[in-house]
Amino acid sequence: MVRLTVQRQAILDLINRSNQHWDAEELARCLGENGEQLGIATVYRGLAALENAGLIQSIQLADKKRYERADKGHHDHLVCIKCGDIEEFCDNKIESRQQQVAQDRLFQMTGHQLLIFGVCQSCSNDSQESKNL
Ligand SMILES: [Zn+2]
Ligand SMILES: [Zn+2]
Repeated sequence: MVRLTVQRQAILDLINRSNQHWDAEELARCLGENGEQLGIATVYRGLAALENAGLIQSIQLADKKRYERADKGHHDHLVCIKCGDIEEFCDNKIESRQQQVAQDRLFQMTGHQLLIFGVCQSCSNDSQESKNL
């Protein structure tokens, strides 16, 4: 087990208590509201260390990394380009196809990330409604 500083433990606890996909700024803000004032550089370093230790996992979006609990295991994401909502899914067919692709190329797969970008249901309902106005 890795030894954690109090600050890193606070970051880890916050992530483990939620189902969110956090970016560093959101985490720093929320920790501040809980009375844990951490500098943003400390948060970035803490997140990197926690991820290296396998205690949290991340997805890399265009602008920033987002971190989430590691104990959820592997899953993939649908990302709404309008509201930024992130939905999770896991599809066994996709998973095994990817493994097959790597295997066919004699490529030793260590992991993958799949992000599907688009417009979520509630955003597409919204734009539907504004068209009808
Ligand atoms: Zn996957
Ligand atoms: Zn997720």
